[in-house]
Order: sequence, then C-alpha cells, then structure tokens
Amino acid sequence: MSRHWGYGKDNGPSTWHETFPIANGQRQSPIDIQTKSARYDSSLKPLSITYEPSTAKNIVNNGHSFNVEFDDSADKCVLKGGPLEGTYRLIQFHIHWGSREGQGSEHSVDSVKYDAELHLVHWNTKYGKFAEAVKHPDGLAVLGVFLKVGSACPGIQKVVDALGSIKHKGKQAAFTNFDPTGLLPACHDFWTYLGSLTTPPLLECVIWIVLKQPVTVSKEQIDKIRSLSFYDENEPLCPMVDNWRPCQPQKGREVRVSFQ
Ligand SMILES: [Zn+2]
Repeated sequence: MSRHWGYGKDNGPSTWHETFPIANGQRQSPIDIQTKSARYDSSLKPLSITYEPSTAKNIVNNGHSFNVEFDDSADKCVLKGGPLEGTYRLIQFHIHWGSREGQGSEHSVDSVKYDAELHLVHWNTKYGKFAEAVKHPDGLAVLGVFLKVGSACPGIQKVVDALGSIKHKGKQAAFTNFDPTGLLPACHDFWTYLGSLTTPPLLECVIWIVLKQPVTVSKEQIDKIRSLSFYDENEPLCPMVDNWRPCQPQKGREVRVSFQ
C-alpha cells in the first residue's frame, strides 16, 4: 500500500489491517465500555499523577493529531498506581475529535460517544525507553479523558492558542512550561483494560486507564482544534476532524472499574 494511513475514505481505519494485520488482533483499542459488565476491583489503587510543568517541550502537527511532547529523560512527569506496577513516564499527549458534536471520542461508554478524547501517553520506565516499551504487553499506560462541549477549560487554552502556529502537517513550535494537570477532571475514578495503540502501528502494548468524569471545553476551543489541517502547506486545506478509530471487538477482555 503506497498511500499513508489516515482517516479518509481510502486510507481510514477500515483499511489499516492491509498494512498492519494486528488491526484484527486480540486486544485492539478503542472499545465500547459496557458499564454493567465492568467488574469492580477493590485491589485497584488510587491513581498517582505527578506532572512537572517544566518538562513540556514542543507542540507538533503530525498529520493525524497534534502532539504536545515532554522531556522524558527523568522521572518528572509520572503516572503510578491504579492497575499499574512501577512507574510510567509521560512522553506526549494528543487529542482525537469529531467534525461535529456527538462524535470524536475513541472509547465510548454504553455506546455513547463524547465530543473528543485526550490521551496522555506514558511508558514503563523498566524498559528504559519508549521505543523498547512498545514491544511489551505492559509497555505503555495511556490515560484517557473524555471531552465534551460546555463551559471553557482554562487548562487547555494555552494549547488552543498554540495551534495557530502549527496549522499544517509537519509544523512544530516550542511549547514550554505547561502543566497537563489542568486537563484532568477533579475525580480520578477510572475503567481499565488491556488494549493497543489506536493508530498504526496499533501495537498491543497499552494498559488503558479511562477516566469516568469528562472535562468540558467550549465550542470556541474545540472549533480552533478543528481548524488544524491534515495536510502540509503545499496541499489543499483539509480540516483535521474525525481523527478517531471506531470501537473494536472486546474479544473476551475484562474491563475493571475502580469505583462502586
Ligand atoms: Zn490517541
């Protein structure tokens, strides 16, 4: 397949298996979280989330989303607890979103989709580096946060303001002194299950932790996110929207829940 993967008619999620056969694998993400079949697990610990604003580095339009990248050379931004053993270090966060309200999230809850979904990507420090961690079933921990349109989220405004300088694919800008804690809801109750990256190469290396409580963003904020372009500046403008993968078969996997 010469065309690069994306979210269009010819290169979207239904075609990814042609180049990445694991797309039809045993623990693919996202999934529909069915709350009635999730099992409360009293052994799940509370999440421990420690983010250090000075580690933010860059913001990049990679043609699929935008990534805010962090310096992950030391244990400064770390996720622990919950279903995790050991320490997971933040490397980047990004968002998936829709062209309109009512779609945009990757996970759904009892078939209900949110307007967008934030993914904070952390790697297991026992593997030494991200590229090694993705080869292991417990290599990554991705913290998922649902976003829905409502009142503005002050914690995301600095991100929204930076998007004008990375409108096109391949653009990058410095992005420093940012605290991702401002993107999280007050309540850290979560669902957790074993899954995969939701973009190629779709590696089955992710312990998913999806927070129950959504965060609201304003219509103005999400519209600015929707004004990014999938393509580089020499190509026609193509609004970056609907960059989400549909739900995948659960294939017998258990979803555990931290709250009753
Ligand atoms: Zn993602």
